[in-house]
Parts: sequence; C-alpha cells; structure tokens
Amino acid sequence: MIIRREITVFGTVQGVGFRPFVYRLAHELQLAGSVRNDGFGVTIEIEGESAVCERFCELLASQKPPLSIISSIKKRDLTLQNETDFTIVNTARSKRVITNAPPDTALCDDCAKELFDPLNRRYRHPFISCTNCGPRYTILTRLPYDRAETSMRSFTMCEACAAEYSNPIDRRFHAQPNACHHCGSTLTLYDASGQTVAVRQEAIRAAVYALRNGKIVAIKALGGFHLCAIATNETVVKRLRERKNRPSKPLAVLFGAIETIEAQAQLSDEARELIASSARPIVLVRKSDRYSLAPSVAPAIDRIGVMLPSSPLEAIIMNDLREPIVATSANISNEPIICNLAELTTKLGAVYDLALDHDREIVNACDDSVVMETGVAAVMVRRARGYAPTPFALAKAIAAPTLALGAQQKSAIAIGFDKNAVLSPHIGDLGSVDSLEFFDRTIATFKRLYAFEPKRIVCDLHPRYDSVKWALAQQLPTLQVQHHHAHALAVMAERRLASPALAIVWDGTGYGTDGTIWGGEFLVADYARFDRVAHIKPFGLIGGESAIREPQKIAYALLHQAGLSERLDDKNLAQMVERGINTPQTSSIGRLFDAVAYLIGACREFGFEGQSGMTIEALYDERETRSYPFEITNGAIGVEPMIRALLSDPPQIAASRFINTLAAIALEVVRGYDLPIVLCGGVFQNRVLVEKLVPTLRSAGKTVYLPRLFPPNDGAIALGQLAYDGE
Ligand code: ZN
Ligand code: ZN
Ligand code: FE
Repeated sequence: MIIRREITVFGTVQGVGFRPFVYRLAHELQLAGSVRNDGFGVTIEIEGESAVCERFCELLASQKPPLSIISSIKKRDLTLQNETDFTIVNTARSKRVITNAPPDTALCDDCAKELFDPLNRRYRHPFISCTNCGPRYTILTRLPYDRAETSMRSFTMCEACAAEYSNPIDRRFHAQPNACHHCGSTLTLYDASGQTVAVRQEAIRAAVYALRNGKIVAIKALGGFHLCAIATNETVVKRLRERKNRPSKPLAVLFGAIETIEAQAQLSDEARELIASSARPIVLVRKSDRYSLAPSVAPAIDRIGVMLPSSPLEAIIMNDLREPIVATSANISNEPIICNLAELTTKLGAVYDLALDHDREIVNACDDSVVMETGVAAVMVRRARGYAPTPFALAKAIAAPTLALGAQQKSAIAIGFDKNAVLSPHIGDLGSVDSLEFFDRTIATFKRLYAFEPKRIVCDLHPRYDSVKWALAQQLPTLQVQHHHAHALAVMAERRLASPALAIVWDGTGYGTDGTIWGGEFLVADYARFDRVAHIKPFGLIGGESAIREPQKIAYALLHQAGLSERLDDKNLAQMVERGINTPQTSSIGRLFDAVAYLIGACREFGFEGQSGMTIEALYDERETRSYPFEITNGAIGVEPMIRALLSDPPQIAASRFINTLAAIALEVVRGYDLPIVLCGGVFQNRVLVEKLVPTLRSAGKTVYLPRLFPPNDGAIALGQLAYDGE
C-alpha cells in the first residue's frame, strides 16, 4: 500500500548534516517527498510503499549523522500527493522557534585529511569545515540555523563552494560556514601596535616563527582569542604570566597530537576519548613521570590541562610548530573571553607581541570547556565550547517560560520552556562591568535565538549577587531558590531522580536561609523544598568575604574554635576572632580546605580560587587510610578534634587524613538515610575527594549520583533553578 507520512524530528538536527542525510536516505529507498528545517526541528514528508516508509523511519534513527541528537519523533499520515521526486525545501521562517543552536564542533577527520593533502583545493585552508564540523553557536545570530543568519553572510561562496553547498550528496551540502581559499575569510597577523605584519599563509608562517622564538601570540580560535606561548620555555611562560598578571593559576596546554600529550601526562582510555572528542575540551589529567614542560605552566600541582586543536587554524599551526604551546583564554582574570581585535588591543595590548586575526566575526563568544578526569567519572568543570548550548530534556514540563539567572561566580544563565532546558555557555564571574555586560548580552542572545520571552525569573537568594539585583529590577514574577538547594536540584534534574534525595552539597559559599554563609550541607531535598539535616558547625569568616583571599584568617577562626587561641600570633586577628568583629559565620567546606591547606603549611597565600584544593590533591597519599576524629551534635558537625590533631602531622599525612575525614563524616551522616545520594557543589571538583568519597559511600550500599553533563559548581545553578518546582 502506498502511503504519505509526515515525520517531525525534534532535537539537535540543524547544522549537523541532517537534511542531506534524509535526502540520501530517501533516494536510496526511492521514496518521494520533501525535507525542510522549520521552527520545530526537521519536518520530513515521505510517500511510498508502507513497508519502505517503516524502513525509512528505522534507518532515520539508527543511521543519523554523528553530531545530531534526536530528542523525539512525531509521525502522522497525510493524503497522497502522487509525487515522484524527493526535494529539499528552503527554510521557512517560523514564528515560534524551537530548534536548537548547535554547539561548535572541532575539525573532523575528513576535513583534517583534506587540510593536509597538497592536492586538495583546501590544502592548508584555515577555515575548512563541513556538515560534521566547524563553528556553529559562535557564528549564529538567529535560528533557524541558515547561512544568512550567521557571520558567514558577509562571504559569498565561489562557484566550486556553491556547487558543494547545493549538492545533496556532498559532505558540504548546506554546510553554512562552507568556504575555501578563494571565498572564505582572510588571516592577518598584526603586531602589538596594530600594524599588519603578514596575511594568509604568510601570516601562519610568521606566527609559527614568532612562537618558536619565544614571542607571545594571540590567536583567534573558535570562541575567542587564546594567548599562546611555547610551553617548554620557562622564561617565555613566566613572561606571559607577568604580563597577564596571573601569578600561579595553571595554564592550559595545546598539543598537536595525542601522542605528544602521552609523553607529558598519564592518560586513561576515558581521558584519551575526551581529549579527542568533537567537543575538544581542556582535559585535566595527571602529569606523567616524564613531564618536561616549563615549571611555570602548572606550578605546585600534579595536574595539567591539555587539549588538541579544535579549529583548522590551530591544527595547521600545531602541525608546523611541532611543539606544545600554552593557550590561555585572552581575558582579564575571570572576565569573559575576548573575541575581537579592537577589544584585544585595548585590554591586552601590553600582553601579546603579535595577534593572528581573521575576518569571520565571532558573534557569540564562547570559552573553552574544561573537564576533569577522575578514577570514578569525568567531572565537567566548565561547560562552554563544544557542549553549550546543547539543550537538555527535563523529566517534567516547566510551569511557564522561565529565565534562570544562576549565581554570581561561574555565571551561566538558562532558559526553560515546556520540557526544554537550555543552559548558556560559561559567562564568568559577575561583578565587573564587562562580565555584567556579557551576562546581559547572553540573555539577549538566548531570547533572540529561541524567540523566547520569559514569563518569570528564578534567581539565587543572596541579596548582593548581581544576578539577583538584575532579577529584582525586572517587571516579572521572580522566585528565589536557596543556593545549595539549586545545586542539589541541578543534579537531581540531570539524573532525572525521583525525590527526595539526600544531597551532600560541599561548596565555596552560598547564602543560607538563616542569613549565614553555607557550604558544608546535607540536605534532604525534593523539587519544592529541603531540610537541612546536617552541616559543618559554623566557624568565623574574619573580615567577611575578604577572608576568601586570606586563608590565615579562616585558619585563625578554626584554631580559636578548637581552643588553640594561644597559637594566634597576630594580635589584630586574635581580637577580631574574640570579639566577632566583622566575622560572619560559615559552614563552608571550601573555606575549611583553605584553612587546612594553610595550617599544614601547604598553601600560605592564594593566587586563585581552588588553589588550596589542588595543593591538597597533590599531597594526597592514597596509602594513608586513617582519618581524624570529629563530633556530630544535633546535625552540627564539629571539626575541632580534627584541627587539633592535624597540626602535629607532616603535610602529606595531614592532607590525606583530612580527605579521609571528610569521607568518614559523609558516611556517618548518610548512614541514617535510605535515599539516593547526590554529590554537588564546587568542592567536588577535587579529584582525590571524589575518588575517596564515591567508593566509600558505594561500598556502604549507597546509590551515589554525580553530575555528568553539567558542572558540580555554580556553573549549573541555573539548571537547578529551572528545575525548582516550589513558590
Ligand atoms: Zn569536517
Ligand atoms: Zn570557495
Ligand atoms: Fe555554589
């Protein structure tokens, strides 16, 4: 029997070669009909023998293009039109746009082959791409994803490119960034004063020469500029640190091939897969015994962030250079990544010697993603290029179109409608004019891309968060969700958990419902409310939030609490502790890490957030199995016995027993609950803690959930806010 059927495919199906795939499939099966992108995804009509139509539907799902994600398929029967041909219909603009903005995708193997084939017409073309790879979100102004709605609109395809673009069986059929040496963007190398040094291939050669000779070169990558310098030369790396005013925070390293990474780092199979994946994140892995990069790349820690080229330009540079380079985001600390030359010159003109720029505009800046490898599971640390803004399907529909604003640090916003949650790429720490401007711009981008108008806003509870002030300035109903509840909800939503769950939320800081600063919490949570069933017994944060930069203040407060006031040799601080002057109370595990790192002499000064955790990680010895005493009274966990005991142990023993103590505390608290356990909060970016705690809880028979797709840190707060179902 001949039938005609409409098939609507929802998900990530635009900009990933879906229509050409459908076209080829229909032709193979000799079905008539059409395919078009529309506001709802991709709509296909097929006409033919009913068994063949069934076969088409099977193959549609099983052979879909590698980058596509089908979230659902709807089918309905139509009346016959007696068509004989299958065609691709041009995109019609739809009012309600529900399709997804695809994330940027690293150079694919096919394009890489062509890139280094001297006989290929795109030999060494720094902007080679196809339907399986290339920029997407970063060049997109509006959905549906079409060339006219990207920054490629200013380039007219040459005849050869246009022929590929319109040939349904070509790999570049409707590949929006399609270009070649003749019709694509042009590279230009500038010196720090803005003078042109070289263009096109000569610009690449000059940049490689400069890098090899110790110059700092800013290179325009997919989502913004990287500041690059040879990673084996200590003088050069130090110079980059001095100029960028970044004394100690580890720098990511870009390698040309996985084999060269193997020489510097210990890679598990999972790490290898992540490094080579089409998202090409920075992967935090352990240094190997043969590690030989400049000491200043990642001082005093046992990890290093590595990545492979994500753009063809980087691939050519690394192929020519044959040396790893430091590639750090061009920004001022914690601010958004810079994505155009004018801003780069204004803000970082004194940092780089040369800038390798091109004229394909980055519409939406997008930082590199960071993933940490652990013995238990990979942990997303920063979700951006390659992952965002892939939407997430919630288990339950959201009551009304909702804008969620996240927290203050590691800001990311999210929009939610029906069952869709779309989390923005990492924005950065709010608090500077530029980050706030990027925050505003990201909200505007998401509203425009998705033709989205929020009916309500969800934000944090902290009265001083810029995101909260922003929310309260809008004329929309606003819900405020407690920070650590949102942390728990982010994981519960991602892992689709039925409530309630027991959440272990170990974090830096977050505003508690009692006005103190929380961060060492055990919450029994459902989607509307939570019970704080246990928490670290609060200690003083001398001088308030400024203590975050000065660990001795936190250490002093804990010494005082542990009855060791005689050890306080700073009169001023001692007085502040005694009298509680400007000393809010906190239960933060992040701050406990700071104090412990200080007290055991591992880390006396903080150059960057998370440093205390990283030094404790580096000291941790898994052969040490003992832990320190602690006491729990009415849900308040006292760590004074631990503080008293660790002072007399050498740093390695103390660091190891500290981690073991945290695991023992968690085990003790969760024993009383027959609930799934959720781990969240920024402290779970600590590799040794994850590797110790998860097996400990699992061997006690507990079911333990860590986030997979989203970070455990504040970067996922917006998702948790969307999942909130209370009022
Ligand atoms: Zn490709
Ligand atoms: Zn061309
Ligand atoms: Fe947090």
